[in-house]
Amino acid sequence: MGNILIGVDIGGTTIKVGFFSIEGKILDKYEIPTNKNDNGNQIIPDIAHSITGKIKDLILKKEAIIGIGVGAPGFIVGDSGIVEEGVNIGWKVVKLGSELKEILQLPVFVGNDANLAALGENWMGSGNQASNFVAITLGTGVGGGIIANGQLLSGVNGTAGEIGHITVVPDGYPCNCGKNGCLETVASATGIVKQAQEIIDVNPQSNLGQHIAEHGRITAKDVFDLASAGDQDCQQIISQTGDVLGLVLSNIATIVNPSKIVIGGGVSKAGKPLLDAIKHSFSIYALERLTEVCDIDTAQLGNDAGIYGAAYLVKDNLVNNK
Ligand code: ZN
Repeated sequence: MGNILIGVDIGGTTIKVGFFSIEGKILDKYEIPTNKNDNGNQIIPDIAHSITGKIKDLILKKEAIIGIGVGAPGFIVGDSGIVEEGVNIGWKVVKLGSELKEILQLPVFVGNDANLAALGENWMGSGNQASNFVAITLGTGVGGGIIANGQLLSGVNGTAGEIGHITVVPDGYPCNCGKNGCLETVASATGIVKQAQEIIDVNPQSNLGQHIAEHGRITAKDVFDLASAGDQDCQQIISQTGDVLGLVLSNIATIVNPSKIVIGGGVSKAGKPLLDAIKHSFSIYALERLTEVCDIDTAQLGNDAGIYGAAYLVKDNLVNNK
């Protein structure tokens, strides 16, 4: 058998690809643009072409490649390799696994991108290969992945671990999924901006109001910067967001009983104030036996978590189980 794992992470704007050793060291990584034209029909050939080129560039023998793992933004049912409803890339039902395998003649394994980011973070990031592990990514949306009793949870139709769509405000803001008041409408970057906008609407004279008057817009990062400069409204947004996240995570912990919960994504850059608020809220809402054994921390791998997890999916299927 070979000794190189390839991890691919398909995103809405770029596709990240990493070549890894079995031990998890990155040998090479690169990005190509996501071509969403023609319902995303070019995406699979683009990935295959770039991998073939990179294998040549690195002067590797094809036999050195153990297999390819691919994370896609959509619902993936079990080991089918089929992406149902590829979010943001125009896919409806795409046989990603079999089509890529057909072109490259290498084993291909497919998973949901957020689930694979959790696997990656647990493999080489801050998870330390925990058997019971929860990862939550607070970006433009909110994604999640859950490992329970050593297994990544995917569920009967690939919807397990969709933490971002847990309802936290009945009748709250509309979510991209069609429901209202999902965690994503509060704790994503967009959710943070919505909370800021509410304050601006009520009090245009606030620091937030003045910021928007000067700059024409406000971002989640602006809210974090204002909070660290001492603005109480923005500090309140962070503590409220942390409170909601702590509540959700305490409920998840009641089901999973994890040793580690990892918070990643752009919103986690709010840093210690957010992490402290989450931990405080978690300690209030979770059973003491759960808090005693559960460490909550920020993620370490950043945007690379997805390619790490995709590579690990190959390792888990073809190396660990041998
Ligand atoms: Zn939703």
